[in-house]
Amino acid sequence: MNCPTCEAPKRSLWTAQEAHIGKIPDLTRLHISTHAWGSLWRCDTCSSLWSRADYEPWGGYPYLIYWQYSEDAWLHVTDSKRGRLFAHWHEQRVLDLIDAIPSKERVPGPIGCLSRTHHSPVSLDDLMKTEQGAAANP
Ligand SMILES: [Zn+2]
Repeated sequence: MNCPTCEAPKRSLWTAQEAHIGKIPDLTRLHISTHAWGSLWRCDTCSSLWSRADYEPWGGYPYLIYWQYSEDAWLHVTDSKRGRLFAHWHEQRVLDLIDAIPSKERVPGPIGCLSRTHHSPVSLDDLMKTEQGAAANP
């Protein structure tokens, strides 16, 4: 059964329909990462975690991605070493998921801003690797 508040696990992406007037559910913020320009939120109804980043124009459009991993995993991938790459992964993930949400929730302006940014693909698996793991498999 899906959560009545955040609709997890059926839903994996929330967007704001208009700046500051979003349909985003009421969640509790757990962490902010300045390295990843994002934050981690928890649904108090079902305890699901959501990774949030706010995009252009004017950084006024929040996008929440369902975070199926732990709080510690989010802190790991958004630390000073990985945060910038994680921010790119987050953007990629939004673009991957955007077609699955109702069209009325797709605000053309911000999506246009996302599509115009080009980065090399980022693998979350690579970001998840520990320092030791990475050293063992150069
Ligand atoms: Zn929920």
